[in-house]
Amino acid sequence: MQGQMMHYPLTIGHFLERAEKLFPKVEVVSRLPDRSLHRYTYGEFASRARKLASALLKLGLKDGDRVGTLMWNHYAHLEAYFGIPIAGGVLHTLNLRLHPTDLAYIIEHAGDRFLIVDDVLLPLWEKVAPMVKNVEEVIVVPLTGKPVPEGFLDYEQTIAPAGELEEFRIAGEEQALGMCYTSGTTGRPKGVVYSHRAVVLHSLASALPDALNLSQKDVLLPVVPMFHVNAWGLPFTATMTGTKQVLPGPYLDPESLLDLYEREQVTATAGVPTIWLGILQALEKEPNRWKLVPGMRMVVGGSAAPEGMIRAFDKFGLRVIHAWGMTETTPLGTVSYLKSYMEDLPEDEKYRIRAKQGLPVPLVEARGWGEEGEIPWDGKTMGELQVRGPWIAESYYNLPEGADKWTEDGWFKTGDVVTIDAEGYIEIVDRTKDLVKSGGEWISSVQLENALMGHPAVAEAAVIAVPHPKWQERPLAVVVLKEGASATEEELKAFLEPKFAKWWIPDRIVFVEEIPRTSAGKFLKSKLREQFKDFKWE
Ligand code: ADP
Repeated sequence: MQGQMMHYPLTIGHFLERAEKLFPKVEVVSRLPDRSLHRYTYGEFASRARKLASALLKLGLKDGDRVGTLMWNHYAHLEAYFGIPIAGGVLHTLNLRLHPTDLAYIIEHAGDRFLIVDDVLLPLWEKVAPMVKNVEEVIVVPLTGKPVPEGFLDYEQTIAPAGELEEFRIAGEEQALGMCYTSGTTGRPKGVVYSHRAVVLHSLASALPDALNLSQKDVLLPVVPMFHVNAWGLPFTATMTGTKQVLPGPYLDPESLLDLYEREQVTATAGVPTIWLGILQALEKEPNRWKLVPGMRMVVGGSAAPEGMIRAFDKFGLRVIHAWGMTETTPLGTVSYLKSYMEDLPEDEKYRIRAKQGLPVPLVEARGWGEEGEIPWDGKTMGELQVRGPWIAESYYNLPEGADKWTEDGWFKTGDVVTIDAEGYIEIVDRTKDLVKSGGEWISSVQLENALMGHPAVAEAAVIAVPHPKWQERPLAVVVLKEGASATEEELKAFLEPKFAKWWIPDRIVFVEEIPRTSAGKFLKSKLREQFKDFKWE
């Protein structure tokens, strides 16, 4: 017997209509380049997103045309998030931290016909422009209020005369809504194409109590850039729930963020660990300066949230939620939370669990795959994390050679190495290429890094494999000390000793001023490995 329910397509057009009908008075607040705050409501947002859609169609946008965005987190970017897809276009967010040649490659590979750029980012676009031929029209958002230079369209003047698009050009839930390229820490950037259906289901899962627990009553500030995996889908999720959004513009330094958290009474926020380490240091320096909402949730992902950081924020009454995901998974894959019967566990054990990457969210299936097939749930055996589900990519855009990232039975190979414990909690112990292979045994660089970052004098630590005459590879730790703090190599090794097998302890710990990072703020280990490839063990 067949179910007898309507075939109602899952599209973000519904989110837009819902927000404008039910929550037209809810605010969207954006920090502008001059640091002032721009405020308007979902009502105004929806009207302008519809106008942007009409304007794009008038400019000649055809179904499936890619529209690139080179923008910070603010109201106009949110308009593009909805205006482009409802016009039948594909929102292609561009990572403004990439090198101009990488941006040119991505814009050409995606075949962007139109581009929307912040006026403050025009200098970047001008470096990219000579390298690309496919962009026909560039629309500039005059965030500073200064006149838009000749040769570009002014965003405000382009949308002002346009009518509000009434009929959305969304043919069905499988239609492409947007695309995003991986940041290329592993070879050439690869394009991932999101469908309406994937984003809608992802939004529902993201809002669940055991994920972000996002409600209409929240105030959300996504620190994670809207140019990186759609800010983890949060602009879509928050529009779905009708939640007030606070968008930080170009100001992502700890003080600017803490000021916004306090001023707008933010209850939920999200970003990569680097951001939170900075915020923590600011709070530790001036513990009474900011009055934050008690229990503010901070979703941390993109790289591992060190246990020490989770503990430290708890002291300030702020709750870190550790999540894992990637560009190919829209991105939410797992979230760490305690099961009901774990609340009485000893504190240390609870922190251990919260520092893991957690349990797969509903509709995502996960398994660890080792040399002998699926790894046991023993918390020890390492294997590659493989996932499948309705918001996991099934291929890369126009990249046949990328097909080896999927198994024959249809799982996506994440490249992350994990253990899974008896309760099903996944812990990332490394990326396949970052493991240290010492005398035939694997050492997890990530676990060593997290332990080192638990030392009070350590600001940042990266552990890399360096060739070794006897053991093939041995771990080398590269450490940045906190301002004004001191620690010796011996002290740090002694700090690690009780936590690891003897042969895991890095043979040497070297101190540096800073660790090279990727455009998404992650440690750039390939660069570190290059830097230390001739390191002399003594
Ligand atoms: P890139 O592959 O360029 O780094 P992504 O932003 O898609 O781009 O990164 C996804 C990767 O980030 C994951 O495969 C994983 O290695 C890492 N990652 C994401 N979240 C976490 C986390 N909570 N803990 C550890 N690693 C994480």
